[in-house]
Amino acid sequence: MLKKLLCSQETAKQRMDICNNCEHKTIINTCAVCKCILPLKVKFLFSECPKGKWSETYFTSDEW
Ligand code: SF4
Repeated sequence: MLKKLLCSQETAKQRMDICNNCEHKTIINTCAVCKCILPLKVKFLFSECPKGKWSETYFTSDEW
């Protein structure tokens, strides 16, 4: 059940790498735009970057 809500570790890492290079990431690992806790947010399949910066990430086949 929970697995269906989570993306792959690969996608979560890709998202976190983008956040780590984003000007909106705060010192306490939250997003200044959406206020989410990033290490948690990146793991959920249907999370979205409010600035559209995750558009270059892709879902791997195990997520469909
Ligand atoms: S969710 Fe988007 S806007 Fe927020 S820190 Fe990550 S890349 Fe930046």
